[in-house]
Amino acid sequence: MAKLHNLGFARIGANRELKFALEDYWGGRSTADELLNTARTLRLQNFRAQEGLDLVPVGDASLYDHVLDMSVTLGNLPKRAQRLSLSELDRYFCAARGRSAQLITLTESTESDAQACCPIHDHPRPEAQEFSGLVSDQTEAQQIPAAQMTKWFDTNYHYLVPEFSKECHFSLNAERLLTQLAEAQATGAKAKPVILGPVSYLRLGKAKDGSNPLDLLPRLLTVYAELLSELHAAGAEWVQIDEPVLVTELEPEWRQAYERAYHALQGTGVKLLLTTYFGELAENLTLALELPVAGLHIDATHSRREITAAIDWLPANKVLSLGVISGREVWKADLTYLLDWLEPIAEKLGDRLWLAPSCSLLHVPVDLAAENANGDADQQGARFIPNLKPRSGIDPEVLRWLSFGRQKIEELSLIGRALNQGRSSVEAELRANQQDCDTRRTSKKVHNLEVKARAAKITLKHTQRTSPYALRSKIQQGRLNLPLYPTTTIGSFPQTAQIRKARLDHKKGRIGFSEYEQLMQEQISHAVSFQHDLGLDVLVHGEAERNDMVEYFGEQLSGFVISQFGWVQSYGSRCVKPPILFGDVSRPAAMTVAWSQFAQSLTDKPMKGMLTGPVTILNWSFVRDDQTRAESCAQIALAIRDEVLDLEAAGLPIIQIDEAALREGLPLKRREWQVYLDWAIRCFRIAASGAADNTQIHTHMCYSEFGDIMESIARMDADVITIETARSDMQLLDVFERFDYPSAIGPGVYDIHSPNEPSPDHMVALMQKAAKRIDPVRLWVNPDCGLKTRQWPEVLVALKHMVAAAQTLREQAASLKELTA
Ligand code: GLN
Ligand code: ZN
Repeated sequence: MAKLHNLGFARIGANRELKFALEDYWGGRSTADELLNTARTLRLQNFRAQEGLDLVPVGDASLYDHVLDMSVTLGNLPKRAQRLSLSELDRYFCAARGRSAQLITLTESTESDAQACCPIHDHPRPEAQEFSGLVSDQTEAQQIPAAQMTKWFDTNYHYLVPEFSKECHFSLNAERLLTQLAEAQATGAKAKPVILGPVSYLRLGKAKDGSNPLDLLPRLLTVYAELLSELHAAGAEWVQIDEPVLVTELEPEWRQAYERAYHALQGTGVKLLLTTYFGELAENLTLALELPVAGLHIDATHSRREITAAIDWLPANKVLSLGVISGREVWKADLTYLLDWLEPIAEKLGDRLWLAPSCSLLHVPVDLAAENANGDADQQGARFIPNLKPRSGIDPEVLRWLSFGRQKIEELSLIGRALNQGRSSVEAELRANQQDCDTRRTSKKVHNLEVKARAAKITLKHTQRTSPYALRSKIQQGRLNLPLYPTTTIGSFPQTAQIRKARLDHKKGRIGFSEYEQLMQEQISHAVSFQHDLGLDVLVHGEAERNDMVEYFGEQLSGFVISQFGWVQSYGSRCVKPPILFGDVSRPAAMTVAWSQFAQSLTDKPMKGMLTGPVTILNWSFVRDDQTRAESCAQIALAIRDEVLDLEAAGLPIIQIDEAALREGLPLKRREWQVYLDWAIRCFRIAASGAADNTQIHTHMCYSEFGDIMESIARMDADVITIETARSDMQLLDVFERFDYPSAIGPGVYDIHSPNEPSPDHMVALMQKAAKRIDPVRLWVNPDCGLKTRQWPEVLVALKHMVAAAQTLREQAASLKELTA
């Protein structure tokens, strides 16, 4: 009999209950007990949703982050947080969120989740730092920086990076796990505690003193062994120990660490289920199979060949758990197709076969039941077209193809029943499932022959500008006549409560399009005159009409649907609602032109049209599983290309195509990077290359580590790229010493995530550093990201200083010229 289990469930709640409870607590509007009660209620709800399974996960529910939870369990919270005389709960939040001297008000949006403006690599939290629990400890607490946050493998979830040093000592704190285990047992559920394995824990952390985290392994294992014994004593038969690092490329010392670790963790009494996910084990398959644990979980959504090999080599006493339902996608599984494959495996393995989702269901929305089905996919974006009636909700046909967390558990139960009691026991359900999968395969809503034909006809010429950069830049300068060190911003201006209200009113149908249009035009006029008065050289319209840089386009492109409640945790209380790409992509109407054209009409200065690039739209959406990411991306690229052409025809001399998520899309295995970069860069070029030589194409990326993909970034062939560099003190630009970047660069001169006022002198100094590596004629002066999370008064000061800095730089350049003349 195949056993059913789950690796983890979404913690945020179907209605984001945990998010709101956290923010109420942080804002001083509720007590710790109230927060903990909400969290407990959610855990119990999750148990109930998983009732039919043989083993339910416990300990997966986290108040902020499961990696931080592991740090607590191991007694490894950063020292700066440990020292605070606060409740354990407040120390935990302080480690997670830090505390800066200034209180930043939460710019929380009601219509979207005020998505952080950037991928979070190394960024200090752009969220509220307001923290009620610290009032008693103000002075000490003021100095506490948040733990570093970074992407959890290739998902859009971010974890808090464990901190190590040579002196690190671990000590067990099993309370959270034991409490949650008891709580689950009390409901009668058969519970399986979930922990992050020791090798992944070390690999995901960072040693600030440059020591090798692996040196800590022996110390760490002592605590893990203690933990496992305690869990056993508390009645856990199985413990799920997550080692996702096994799907990445490992150096020999890390492979050895696996052997050492799992030999040391034998004999604690519990049976270990070693779980791997997010990809194939590939060269680590035999290593994983041979570790002395009771069971191994493999992500079975990738390669069936690997599963066949795993079955062949599986030691006779071991359980094999197959992750057959995707925990990363939102599509209904084709159950008949799965059963055809699984039946012979079940026969062969008997009790030793377990089935589960591929990974934790943290990465998909909670429940499809809340979505309403009155939309029409063909009417995407109707809201933005004056005479069409707005629609909301998911097209009912598309809705039938989808499956969120709870539905995935139901699918798993159906597979279990079909395997254990025969397909006839679930005949009707299988038939319905088959029907949905069949209609999706053949639906006209998915397949648009025109789009496919157009994509098939993309040739080299669609990926090349007419002339090389050297010539283009002259033509563009002839048109734009920009000064040395031109100043600009990245696109968005502060998203005030007033703006969000107008958007929400329009979305809910409380105001019609013309009223909405007028409100947005007022915002645009304000942003334009603001920039004018400051003396910026290249202006933007301010993006007031955009809730989110990806959703805005997803709402208007055919081939996407937007869910109402499809929230997924990004980090802490932050959630994102990725658009769902279900079909061939086309652009029923221009998406941004009217706003940009209006903005341009207000000024003689050049206005920048503002678009999100195809790679970023793809990487921040749920995507299709019936074609490759590269194919989907090329279709999006064609739609953006059309928008570029329309902006150009409308008179916009500059168009920025943001690719904030380009680096994020890099595959987990480095050997697969180049293939990704090749198609991603090609797609960007498809989007950009329709522009005539005299249209200047900008792109923007907000991360600091791209030394290793610099060549690819240069191949994007943008005329100007604006990037984040301020916080690294322009260190990022070191790469230009060995790589001769061909076109213009705007190295961000101040960090928009920090409320600190950057001084003109500091900006001048940064630009002087930049000018040592890049020819000043190719340098721009700009902030390092969009300004939507900031307040107007801050923006005023910062940009004033920025314009002054550019002026100083120009004067310096002029006097230098005089001197050398
Ligand atoms: N143009 C966008 C903005 O300014 C870019 C955001 C981003 O880089 N993530 O908000
Ligand atoms: Zn940015």
